[in-house]
Amino acid sequence: MRMFLLQHPSSTRRLKQIASFARLLVGMVLVCVCSVTGAATVDVSQLANGNMGTLGLHADVFTEEQTPLGLETVRAFYREGRFARGTASVLSFGIGSRPVWVRLSLFNPGHATRSIYANLGTTWVDQLDVYLVSPDGVAIEWHAGDGLPGALGVLPGIGLGLPLALPAGYSELYFRAQTPDPLILPIALLLERNLAENQRDVHYGYGALYGFLLALIFYNCMLYFGLRQRSHLYYALYVLCFIVMNFNYTGHGVAYLWPDRPDFQRFVIVASIVVYAASGLLFANSFLDLAKHTARLHRWVNGFAVAGLLAMLLCIALDSQLAAVLLAFCYLSTVTAMMVALGIFAVLTRQGAGAYFLAGTLFGMLGAAATTTSVWGGIPFNTWTYHGIEFGIVMEATLLALALARQVSYAQNARQKAEYLAQRDPLTGLYNRRAFFELSRGAWSQSHRNARPLSVLILDIDHFKRINDQHGHEGGDKLLISVSDLLTATCRVDDLLARWGGEEFVILLPETDLIQARVFAERVRQIIQETGHVCAREIIHCTASIGVAEYVGDDDLERLIARADSHLYEAKTGGRNQVRG
Ligand code: GH3
Ligand code: MG
Ligand code: MG
Repeated sequence: MRMFLLQHPSSTRRLKQIASFARLLVGMVLVCVCSVTGAATVDVSQLANGNMGTLGLHADVFTEEQTPLGLETVRAFYREGRFARGTASVLSFGIGSRPVWVRLSLFNPGHATRSIYANLGTTWVDQLDVYLVSPDGVAIEWHAGDGLPGALGVLPGIGLGLPLALPAGYSELYFRAQTPDPLILPIALLLERNLAENQRDVHYGYGALYGFLLALIFYNCMLYFGLRQRSHLYYALYVLCFIVMNFNYTGHGVAYLWPDRPDFQRFVIVASIVVYAASGLLFANSFLDLAKHTARLHRWVNGFAVAGLLAMLLCIALDSQLAAVLLAFCYLSTVTAMMVALGIFAVLTRQGAGAYFLAGTLFGMLGAAATTTSVWGGIPFNTWTYHGIEFGIVMEATLLALALARQVSYAQNARQKAEYLAQRDPLTGLYNRRAFFELSRGAWSQSHRNARPLSVLILDIDHFKRINDQHGHEGGDKLLISVSDLLTATCRVDDLLARWGGEEFVILLPETDLIQARVFAERVRQIIQETGHVCAREIIHCTASIGVAEYVGDDDLERLIARADSHLYEAKTGGRNQVRG
């Protein structure tokens, strides 16, 4: 009795161990047999070793034809062999597909119920019905999807998630997915721990993405208020529209903002795709200043933006979700291609920062193409292809911000150049007559206020017509340049030298009375006379006559110059090559 009491628990434990070992062995053999025969049972104990990825290749698929079917009918169809094995790890059925049934065979080798999550990696499936049929044939069902009130099961950025209590042994898991949107079924099984990790990554990821883009938006709004340049505003609008679109199709909108508005959710994703694409066109139009370059292209691009928006409104008015989805995808693809074409146009027409614009739109196009074709079913749907548009927009937004910055600096340089040219005489580079009047104002008022002397000197090259005749107009030009260089070198920093016109020069001499001005003028006259001006292959000698006048009492600048000019006339009539004043 004592022995029995002592031995009984341990033998029971051993029996249990043997039983569970046998069960595991049978399970493993069955899993092997199943994988050989094609009925790929998913052993959920493998989930502890890490993420198993998407399970399309383990799944069997059946497309519902006319009438909606119930679980029992579909199970009978499975037994009759009417399901087909999945051909890709992510099952993809394109836009406007019939409802699809997907079956997974699950094996829980333990003897306790196991908590796992069934995860569908897209949020936009309108309705997802999930049935778990346990080994004893009892079925439990869940419903999820963004077409149901309450946004059931929507995990933003992750997809649809449903907790499953998986009994020991073999279970069947059926999914029925229905949507006119792109029907993509990246089905995975996750442990709660994996799901929490995914959610953490998604939150950090979208936090970083939206934070980066919002910073660009904010900065460009500031630039708009500072510079009043519309491109910055359109840029901010374009990036904002991207965020809104992304927020919508990743399920953030329906989960956080309008969970009880499935009617709104039906159109909001596709409508925001069209708005995003149209805002890209508006930005391109403004950035490339198409209105100025090619009015026709400008009208065309604007027209296409408006047409996209109107077409979407029409789809909504007609309540055609399928038409809206097709429109959104076609429109986005066309617009991204158009943006690149406009970038090529900008480079070919040598617009400032055109290369940055082209590079940005190319990244945007590649990203959008990766996402839309993976969603549409053209290329494999995986993390990289699905998130292509997000990588693309980060590069595009950065390059377009750079393009805007380059454009601002080009415009600034052009303005500075224009201002410089407006003040300068193109031949000699000296100030022109207009700039002379503008720039002399300061010295003039200072002299007037402080009763300081100020003189002006007018210089005219003697017999310049003759020089032109002897050495050609080009020789004359060279001489003018040489004389202007000489005058520049002779003047003080505060003196204001300008070309008055033809072969006449004017110099404003602050802090200089008539006597000092005459001394200075005499020095200038001598230097000109003594210098051999190297013009082409010849050395030209010339002389100059100079008139000098000093500012007195009620003079204004014109009157002072007129007096200097009359002294110049005296110098000319007095025999030239002399100073009068
Ligand atoms: P004067 O000693 O009386 O000043 O005789 P001038 O020949 O120097 O004076 P005039 O005013 O009769 O002739 C000036 C000439 O300068 C006429 C014009 O063709 C020439 N000229 C004016 N601007 C330029 C220019 O930019 N380059 C050249 N090469 N010649 C110029
Ligand atoms: Mg002359
Ligand atoms: Mg003259």
